[in-house]
Amino acid sequence: MKKKIIVLGAGYAGLMAVNRLAKLNQNYKILLINESDTFVERIRNHEFAAGREVPQHKINNLIPNQVELLVDRVESLDPKSKTIQFASAKKKHNYDYLIYALGSTSEANSNNKSLAVNTRWKASELRKSLKGKQAGNLWILGAGLTGIELATEIKESYPELKVGLIDKNLFANDFSSQARNYLLKTFQKMDIDFLENENFEIHENSIFLSKSKTKLQADLIVQSFGFQCCDLGSKSDLKVNAKNQILVDASLQVAEYPEIFVAGDSAYVQGSHLRMGCVTAMPMGVHVAEMVHRSAKGLPVKDFLFGFAGRCVSLGRKQGLIQMTNTRDEPNSIIITGRLGAIIKEFVCKYTLFSICLEKYFSFRTYFWPKG
Ligand SMILES: Cc1cc2nc3c(=O)[nH]c(=O)nc-3n(C[C@H](O)[C@H](O)[C@H](O)COP(=O)(O)OP(=O)(O)OC[C@H]3O[C@@H](n4cnc5c(N)ncnc54)[C@H](O)[C@@H]3O)c2cc1C
Repeated sequence: MKKKIIVLGAGYAGLMAVNRLAKLNQNYKILLINESDTFVERIRNHEFAAGREVPQHKINNLIPNQVELLVDRVESLDPKSKTIQFASAKKKHNYDYLIYALGSTSEANSNNKSLAVNTRWKASELRKSLKGKQAGNLWILGAGLTGIELATEIKESYPELKVGLIDKNLFANDFSSQARNYLLKTFQKMDIDFLENENFEIHENSIFLSKSKTKLQADLIVQSFGFQCCDLGSKSDLKVNAKNQILVDASLQVAEYPEIFVAGDSAYVQGSHLRMGCVTAMPMGVHVAEMVHRSAKGLPVKDFLFGFAGRCVSLGRKQGLIQMTNTRDEPNSIIITGRLGAIIKEFVCKYTLFSICLEKYFSFRTYFWPKG
């Protein structure tokens, strides 16, 4: 009998998973579920928010015919009966294997009125709020990778705006001192303020800094506190961490339900060095496809091995920073900056989409990654 594999989420992990699965066995019945028919290049959400045109890609153009796309919202998952319920389809869907790749958004935890760029919908709200703004203060709360990329992108598009970043920790403390100095110099040149080691309270049109007892005028406040997953996993009897990521073993399999594999931002391997990012989501998507295939053939699953090489940060369209790291994502003193950094970052962004297409079009395995 044909094995039915349901893949939840057509982001970086889900698309890589279905494309790899389809080439591993042409008899698999593969159902891909996504809430929209368009693939969101989340790594470009800050560009989109800052007013740039970002191309849209229909999911059907990125997957082979063997994969059926169902545009719907996943409402519930019952791992005991191996069924999924969708928002608009009345009938439940059964699966032999499930790949859970619903990604992450901040909406589960944050006040929905807040501006953010975690989802395209949120990014488009920010885009609308920014449109035509000639003056005013915009503060970004949280100076991680997304906060840094967003601040520089907005400042480049809206030079008249006063843009600032606030973080409760030391700014860029997980970069090398060379990279931190470069970021600080870039901020200075671009006239972007930054406040580090500060606790803040959000008020209407202002931010109160509790350490320095200062009130900052804020016309726009953007939250960039990191990613949070939806609560579908916890509601479905799956074990999750504080970010609602589903706990999986080293092979990305759910220990209690071995027919469920999790990939991308939704997966948490305890004690591992992996972080949320499309850099990990894509290889995880391929790995879970391979593991479903092994499991379907009665073979034992294998651990997911991954080694980082570097972090790519855009600083507007003209500059970038490449921070080289060891395989555990710890920074070293090698950085690439300026125009070359921007070119490398743009190449990496284009390569993500290109990799999804390569996996679709070629009958042999096209995607590989450093195993660390
Ligand atoms: C501004 C920004 C810049 C970034 N830059 C980088 C970067 O430079 N490098 C890097 O590695 N990472 C970067 N990231 C992180 C990266 O985008 C994510 O880690 C990546 O998208 C995770 O891939 P995923 O497949 O797990 O999830 P996603 O890409 O989020 O895909 C999940 C899919 O599931 C769908 N979905 C969710 N819930 C449901 C539901 N209930 N029903 C149906 N469908 C649903 C979503 O619509 C989406 O299509 C960035 C993120 C942002 C926001």
